[in-house]
Amino acid sequence: MSLQVKKLKAEVTKAVDWQGQSLIQLSRDIHDNPELGFQEEKASNWLASYLKGNGFSVERGIAGLPTAFRAVYGQESPRIALLAEYDALPKIGHGCGHNIIAASAVGAAVASKLVVDNFGGSIIVLGTPAEEVFGGKVDMVREGVFQEIDVAMIVHPDTRNIVARETLACISLDVEFWGKSAHAAAQPHQGINALEALILSFNAINSLRQHVKEDVRIHGIISNGGEAPNVVPDYSAAKFLIRARDVAYLEGLKERVLNCFLGASLATGARLEYNWGNRDYAPMKSNLTLAELFRRNLESIGRRVETSDSGFGLGSTDAGNVSQVVPTIHPSVAIASPQILLHTPEFASAAASEEGHKGLLDAAKAMAMTVVDILGSRETLDEIKQEFYRDG
Ligand SMILES: [Zn+2]
Ligand SMILES: [Zn+2]
Repeated sequence: MSLQVKKLKAEVTKAVDWQGQSLIQLSRDIHDNPELGFQEEKASNWLASYLKGNGFSVERGIAGLPTAFRAVYGQESPRIALLAEYDALPKIGHGCGHNIIAASAVGAAVASKLVVDNFGGSIIVLGTPAEEVFGGKVDMVREGVFQEIDVAMIVHPDTRNIVARETLACISLDVEFWGKSAHAAAQPHQGINALEALILSFNAINSLRQHVKEDVRIHGIISNGGEAPNVVPDYSAAKFLIRARDVAYLEGLKERVLNCFLGASLATGARLEYNWGNRDYAPMKSNLTLAELFRRNLESIGRRVETSDSGFGLGSTDAGNVSQVVPTIHPSVAIASPQILLHTPEFASAAASEEGHKGLLDAAKAMAMTVVDILGSRETLDEIKQEFYRDG
């Protein structure tokens, strides 16, 4: 490591610490005001204002998404994107800790101004809304937001320190059954039961489950199951997510899943309407060269990083879509003990705890130090890119 790189790494670390109280306050404010996907007005506003106040030029509402933003410092390439997520979950609030993702991204970006001033290049914070359900990054990739980007980083809070994680491709399916109402006791023979059609569909999917690859996940909820127990439900609706490691396998699974609903429609006489979502999540392609740099930086500030992600539950993220077009890492920093599960009220508390604040600052430091590695060496950036293009 050259002296200049070493010195800058120490300086960006200090620059994160100087911002400490403001970053923790930002994280707390977002945490205490949970907003669902595409409704993150307060969060995107606070983050954009913070960056503007720190010398970034900010553009709001990019890619046709009102709560997305781009904040830029520097004019030249290479351009490093730090991704901020800030959406919450219904009822659970920040049970996925996206307040920490947001605050660590802006903290790292402001600290990285020093790096841009020394080495050139640009730091771009992309505010990426609605990760949990709608996949704002899918739109942003589609709209070309990442075309100018050389490298992307985002750090997610979790229960373990891991630098390269696998995630599953994920597609969504909304279904509705249309039947015919009738008195459930007096004239049941006159009715067509839309709820039974859904129950049959769930059972058919449970049978299908035995005969798919083990990484496949199919899960859904009934969002409408009728209005009253004495009325044959004439309408029912459900939402499903279907996931697999391999995009081609997932594509082939679509027909088999749909057949479960079609079969139930035939059996009950309820008419099926369905809609495949238009924001498919791609699997994560972690850039291992970049992940290794991040690992060293995270370890240098005192975190022990696990070498494998085995035993880690496989979810999906729209950062997967980013990773298909730009060298990307999506590491995790531990902010709670492994017994605590993501998407629970317990994890939401962890996301505003002392350990959560420490995770935020460590994530910001390790990202800013990785920015030093990338902007400080053309060879390093070349290696990252070579890996990306080599692996197709
Ligand atoms: Zn989540
Ligand atoms: Zn999340």
